[in-house]
Amino acid sequence: MTKFSVDLTNCDREPIHIPGKIQSHGFLIAVDKNTFSITYLSENTGDFLKEQAKNLLNQSLSGLNHLIQQHNPEFNIEDLLKLGIIRKSFDAISPHPVEINGNPFYLIISPSDDNWLLEFEPVTLQYDIQSSIGRSASSMLQGKSVAALLSSAALEVKKLINYDRIMIYKFLDDGHGEVVAEEKEDNLEPFFGLHYPASDIPKQARELYKLNLTRLIANVNAQDSQIITFKEDQPLDLTNGGLRAVSPIHIQYLKNMGVHSSFSISLISHGELWGLIACHNYSSKFIDYKAREGSKLIGQILSSALEYRQDEEDAEVIKQFKDTASVLAEHLDRDKYLVEAITTHKTNILDVTKAGGVAIIFENELKTIGNVPSAEEIWELSHWLKNTSDESIYYTHRLPEIHSPAKKYKSTAAGILSCTLNKELGEMIIWFKPEIISNVNWAGNPEKPAAPSENGLLSLSPRKSFEIWSQVVNNTSEKWLAEEIASVLRIREIIITDINKKANEIRQLNEKLQAAYEELDTFSYTISHDLRTPLTSIKTYAELLLKNKSIDEGGRKMLDRILNGANKMNFLIKEILNLARVGRSDVVFETVDMDSLLNEIKNEVLTAFKADSSELILGQLPNLKGDRTMIAQVFTNLIGNAVKYSMMADKPKIEVYGTVEGGEIIYAIKDNGIGIDNRYYDRVFELFKRMDNVKEIEGTGVGLAIVKRVVEKHNGRVWFESKLNVGSTFYVAFKNG
Ligand code: ADP
Repeated sequence: MTKFSVDLTNCDREPIHIPGKIQSHGFLIAVDKNTFSITYLSENTGDFLKEQAKNLLNQSLSGLNHLIQQHNPEFNIEDLLKLGIIRKSFDAISPHPVEINGNPFYLIISPSDDNWLLEFEPVTLQYDIQSSIGRSASSMLQGKSVAALLSSAALEVKKLINYDRIMIYKFLDDGHGEVVAEEKEDNLEPFFGLHYPASDIPKQARELYKLNLTRLIANVNAQDSQIITFKEDQPLDLTNGGLRAVSPIHIQYLKNMGVHSSFSISLISHGELWGLIACHNYSSKFIDYKAREGSKLIGQILSSALEYRQDEEDAEVIKQFKDTASVLAEHLDRDKYLVEAITTHKTNILDVTKAGGVAIIFENELKTIGNVPSAEEIWELSHWLKNTSDESIYYTHRLPEIHSPAKKYKSTAAGILSCTLNKELGEMIIWFKPEIISNVNWAGNPEKPAAPSENGLLSLSPRKSFEIWSQVVNNTSEKWLAEEIASVLRIREIIITDINKKANEIRQLNEKLQAAYEELDTFSYTISHDLRTPLTSIKTYAELLLKNKSIDEGGRKMLDRILNGANKMNFLIKEILNLARVGRSDVVFETVDMDSLLNEIKNEVLTAFKADSSELILGQLPNLKGDRTMIAQVFTNLIGNAVKYSMMADKPKIEVYGTVEGGEIIYAIKDNGIGIDNRYYDRVFELFKRMDNVKEIEGTGVGLAIVKRVVEKHNGRVWFESKLNVGSTFYVAFKNG
């Protein structure tokens, strides 16, 4: 026989369904399906039957019949096989009670390729267990939660087979397992909550577990019995056999744990191996076929109850996610700001998945909920994501393996699920799941050393398993469920629709505003224009009347006021016309000779305000590219204001100079005048807006509105710095070239 060294890596390759031997508490005979002649025989057959049984090989079944007694002496094994063949199943026939040398045995028949397996094992159970199984099933199903269901199933199996320890072992992501329920003798150390690496139960063993739902290892120390045959190169497939000998690796595993007998029952959900009911006894203990069948039934009842509960839980999760999506959709509808809508309410964006934390990167700002890495780490991650993934959605449950900076924060984010809102702007939402290992409880004493290795073989024990498992799940979070991914895609759709809707609303508002502006421009232009003619008449006739000698002093004063009013009105109309003109006309770009322009404006302004005592210094005056008329308006207004609002200063001083900075030419117009209250910073540029401290000084509140419009038309910028009673500096920046 091939000797396997105990090494976890060769577990997956071991052909455990054709071990070439059986456990020796029973014996096995295989017969050819067509000829009914005996093709295989376990070596220990002679121990149970008479010594000459060995000669049965290649004989017909009749030789066997007289070694085995049946209740009905007329009935023989051949008839039994034919009955099973007609019925197409041996379920109702197995176990068939027989007697061997005066002792009760069961004969269990199952198929194996071209052969029938006839397995004989002793009957040890004297009472009928049918009714106790019925009771077990009903008390088991009373548990409402999955946890209660599992622990009562463990208890019922314990009652039935009376092993020292019954564990329910669940396969989690990546095939590793966790003990999720346990029923045990009080003196034993608990294994509840322990995790095992997938390698503890190799792949082909799992396949067998799906085909054959129970396995008994009655005594790990008993010698197995070889199967002998004349078909040298055709090993007998024992997949369906109950006596199948188990792998030496598995035996070593059990021995290391001090286990003498082991029994396991498969739990199948939706056709997949959900887990096992794993039973350990610390002395050798055979379980009667009927008790095994009873346990199998409990396993099947548990499987279907789990399947049902799991479906219910899945449906509940999907419903919760859908409900969250519709609540968030309502918030998005009602709230003005997106981030506020999805983060500030009781139901928020974190509820879209089962993650522990979430980060939203939108309009260059970061907002987080729950357990997340630091802000710098999230920004770094978001840049990496932007460059890594072209897809609208990206997820991994092993981030530190893919992106090494994540090693630092794997306790909060070993897994991420991100969705892009706007790729160019790097806008996205990222959900985080913590590393599993940080969440796991080690039920035993973590300081306790692993079991010492025996005979130089790799030592396998729960403690060792946990260590191996810890390495396997290092850097790993729980996997993202299909439901979570669907939920994120759902919410992404809702958010993007909302962004588009809001952008559309803004666009429409902009269009309306644009139209309103244009209308207003036309309106002001027409009105101002039409007002000028009657105003000129008023002015002209008032001036004519003033020249009339017959008008007395009182009349003259009134006429002066009329003229004054008409002049002010004329000025205002001119200003509005200027503003309207800026709106209506296109920018004609040319190089503007600033030196000559500003000298012209300087003289004009100083004369207009009769500001003889004001000092106006022109510094560096780099040329600008832009519309000469409009730029003249900008500087006339800004220099005009500087002169006007500094006239009452001790020594009024105005400085004008330009600097080239980066791609811009920035002009500063600086005065030492009355200043502007910073509280009204944004309002200064509004049309007709004048500050409280300028009530005594004439003005219309149109100048800065014109400045702003012109600058915007040139794609430039305008801003100011000011201190009350100290002075103001206005800056205008134009694109250089
Ligand atoms: P106005 O015709 O009143 O000067 P503007 O639109 O040019 O209208 O300016 C708007 C307001 O901004 C002014 O009324 C004044 O309160 C304030 N302001 C503008 N420039 C200055 C400045 N250099 N110093 C102090 N206040 C200023």
